[in-house]
Amino acid sequence: MHGVVHPKAVGVGMTSNTTRARLIDRLREAGITDERVLQAMAVTPRHQFVDEALSSRAYEDSALPIGRGQTISQPQVVALMTSAVCGEVLPQKALEIGTGSGYQAAVLAQLAKQVFTTERIAELSRLAKQRFHRLGLHNILARHQDGLGGWPSQAPFDAIVVTAGGQVPQALYDQLAEGGILVAPEQVNEHQRLIKVKRVNGRLERTELGQVSFVPLLEGVA
Ligand code: SAH
Repeated sequence: MHGVVHPKAVGVGMTSNTTRARLIDRLREAGITDERVLQAMAVTPRHQFVDEALSSRAYEDSALPIGRGQTISQPQVVALMTSAVCGEVLPQKALEIGTGSGYQAAVLAQLAKQVFTTERIAELSRLAKQRFHRLGLHNILARHQDGLGGWPSQAPFDAIVVTAGGQVPQALYDQLAEGGILVAPEQVNEHQRLIKVKRVNGRLERTELGQVSFVPLLEGVA
């Protein structure tokens, strides 16, 4: 585990470790088996990534609003995407497109050595950076920028997680390291399916992980 969540920042009551442990049990029942991922989610205080008014619902397995029409992803989907990019060897460098609340990045930060995350909406990026700071997650570098071009100066990445639905830009495939894995919700007509793409001997191997529902991947900053 690389990032360390400061104990005082974790909170009590409805948002306690017991409540979080129940979510982990539900994820297990839903078929999440990677203990490293379950452990990362067990130590990440999801209630700190939503507005206080919603914190009592933070350990339900559902997406919740985070303002500006965006959502914090459903825990089961976070678990699925995180499991997909964690191979036998944990990623050194992970890139996320769509910081949103910062929750997915915080979970990744427990597993990857370094996490780079981009968000196009200034206010969401600012709030997420505050949360990383408060939780002592110093291995996350967050930027307010359009993530469609990836993060060329830090490439290649062992893991790329896209948390908004659309067409995956070529730049992201180009920044995937040999043996690296990308997961993304790909938009096809009215539907989105989660795709997993691994670079093996220079070629891209693609599998599909089922239907999902994410907010759209948009161009430019806001
Ligand atoms: N990973 C987030 C989920 C946030 S929802 C979490 O754990 O909370 C997806 C986010 O992607 C939104 O905040 C949206 O503003 C952002 N987004 C959409 N298109 C983007 C782009 N081109 N570059 C960066 N962020 C983008």
